[in-house]
Amino acid sequence: MLEKKEILDVEKVIRDFEVITKDAENVQRETLKMILEENGCAEYLQNLGLNGRTDPESFKACVPLVTHKDLEPCIQRVADGVFSPILTGKPITTISISSGTTQGKPKFVPFNDELMETTLQIFRTSFAFRNKEFPIENGRALQFIYSSKQIKTKGGLFAGTATSNVFRNSQFRKAMKAMQSECCSPDEVIFGPDFHQSLYCHLLCGLIFHEEIRLVSSTFAYSIVLAFRTFEQVWEELCDDIREGVLTSRITFPSVRSAMAKLLKPNPELADLIEKKCSGLSNWYGLIPELFPNVKYIYGIMTGCMEPYLKKLRHYAADVTLISADYGSSEGWIGANINPSLPPESATYAVLPNIGYFEFIPLKENVEEHMQDNGNVSFLSMEPKPVDLTEVRVGEEYEVIITNFGGLYRYKLGDVVKVMGFHNSTPELKFVCRRNVMLAINIDKSTEQDLQLAVEEAAKLIAKEKLEVIDFSSNVDVSTDPGHYVIFWEISGEVSDEVLTECCNCLDRSFVDGGYVSSRKVDAIGPLELRVVRRGTFQKILDHYLGLGAALSQFKTPRCVGPANNKILQILCDNVTKNYFSTAF
Ligand code: AMP
Repeated sequence: MLEKKEILDVEKVIRDFEVITKDAENVQRETLKMILEENGCAEYLQNLGLNGRTDPESFKACVPLVTHKDLEPCIQRVADGVFSPILTGKPITTISISSGTTQGKPKFVPFNDELMETTLQIFRTSFAFRNKEFPIENGRALQFIYSSKQIKTKGGLFAGTATSNVFRNSQFRKAMKAMQSECCSPDEVIFGPDFHQSLYCHLLCGLIFHEEIRLVSSTFAYSIVLAFRTFEQVWEELCDDIREGVLTSRITFPSVRSAMAKLLKPNPELADLIEKKCSGLSNWYGLIPELFPNVKYIYGIMTGCMEPYLKKLRHYAADVTLISADYGSSEGWIGANINPSLPPESATYAVLPNIGYFEFIPLKENVEEHMQDNGNVSFLSMEPKPVDLTEVRVGEEYEVIITNFGGLYRYKLGDVVKVMGFHNSTPELKFVCRRNVMLAINIDKSTEQDLQLAVEEAAKLIAKEKLEVIDFSSNVDVSTDPGHYVIFWEISGEVSDEVLTECCNCLDRSFVDGGYVSSRKVDAIGPLELRVVRRGTFQKILDHYLGLGAALSQFKTPRCVGPANNKILQILCDNVTKNYFSTAF
């Protein structure tokens, strides 16, 4: 008789999801009640005078909206090993280190079993919907996942990136098996101490199991693009390894070598096949399906700051479907992608109403309220009251506030989302951008999304020459008077000064924020500057973050480098090869 495998009951997962989303309002109340009952004895809540009340009204009246900075002292005490309940009823045993690539500095956030459970619930939910449309039978996943170094805090708690905490968890492995999405690489590769070596070995494992690979994935799409860019450089070495059955000497860690030795056998036929396939490709178009003929889809977070990598990913993927993975953060999960057939640009995330209590700050009318004051118009900046999950309105933008089982109460996540519709009574959100990634000099406020769109527009000019912007970042330079926007580009080849000047003008024209355009017209903001950096500059930025303990799995190129991020600015400025000033205005 065949061995019975534990396979996820996707119909049940979908039924459960339907039940909670049909009654989202009550489920939210119940979830908040559970969170507050479980953690009511925590010092943080005790000090706010909730006195055992668990209803949303009392909660909102007593508990303030906070940012990470407000909670830092409490989290630090948890990390320092203070044993009494500080943020949660049960002691926190693990700390997640957020990638810090959006704000420059890694942050500590609590991690516990409840957060692990919500992670799995999100994964199961999106898998259930995905598998209905794109079923994967027995096979393997080529997952470009990496663990960060696990450190011990002063108080003896384990601290690693949230993704590493998840990958290490035995429940995660069981769940991946049940979702037929087991990683084809051994643990020694995932947890290897050097990401360059792990990346090489992931590629090698993928090739060894090439016929069994059903999906190619990573947490963020950036890692998939990086993996195949690397493949372009090392494919011949990979073929040599497969031909001889001996791992290249560039892999030096004994644990990784011995794990790979168990998989690697001399296979000249496979080496010939890969060589033939690679030689037959034009500019690596369609590389992924060529290498992995049975791949069903490519999976990873592809929205927000990952959108700029989609073009390259599509190039490697040819007609293989790209599916954006779910929406969450080190602080906790928010929504699952239950419409996998939508292209990543239109992906939405349905909020799971039982994984946390969610509030949303409306962003439309919050900016300014005009006040007439002795003939002068002044502006009173007021943030409107947050609304509940089921009160959000289609078409409106909001900042997300999380309260969850991990010790965060009314925590401003800093992400902007737009409500695109509802699934039953829970909203489906589109990720818009980080709220604080902003270029601002005068009355202008250009967001991460504005920057992305401007770069996309200007990059079309070099696409005509079959070149691409490999990565980009920005900064406001106020050392000039007036200050101006600086955009840094790493480009895949040589571009003429003429074209780059045109790109620079196009960038300047493409920032559509009213404040920017009017300031440029009256010269209150100076001409935009495009600085081209050397090939490999963004790799140096990645290496810098990895050196600080970030994991590649969660890496996001900083799109706007503020003064607090001096080191990154220095790497960028040290590598500038040419610069151009706009004449667009
Ligand atoms: P981290 O700090 O590494 O935990 O990253 C969390 C942040 O990544 C979130 O706050 C978002 O800004 C971003 N993020 C996570 N999931 C998505 C998604 N599906 N689409 C766009 N951005 C995302």
